[in-house]
Amino acid sequence: MSDCLFCKIRDGQIPARVVYRDEQCLAFEDINPQAPTHVLFIPNKHIATVNDITPEDREVVGQLFVAAAKLARERGHADNGYRVVMNTQRDAGQTVFHIHLHLLAGRSLHWPPG
Ligand code: IMP
Repeated sequence: MSDCLFCKIRDGQIPARVVYRDEQCLAFEDINPQAPTHVLFIPNKHIATVNDITPEDREVVGQLFVAAAKLARERGHADNGYRVVMNTQRDAGQTVFHIHLHLLAGRSLHWPPG
């Protein structure tokens, strides 16, 4: 999508601190980190919200979790733990309408998140 911020990051039109990339997804550091590790995993395919995920997207959505778990392991968060979350629509605070899995780690995280 031409006016999507995360499509522009995917295409290299807007700079980002990319930490992981494969055929299906891309991960980069959140610009406003809420924890020592705060990385966003996005599908290369533009999908606006979780509501728009189709059965054909199963593999790519699964890959977001595979990639997030890999990075969490590499950064030493597997034992202490971490949170993966995908905000959906207004009440959840979604601000960028290209799905992204937040990986938050490196501090004690409160529950419920509020
Ligand atoms: P949401 O609120 O779940 O939609 O999360 C959007 C996230 O994108 C927020 O945590 C923002 O800090 C992050 N963000 C916004 N613009 C950029 C950017 O240009 N680069 C990296 N992260 C961004």
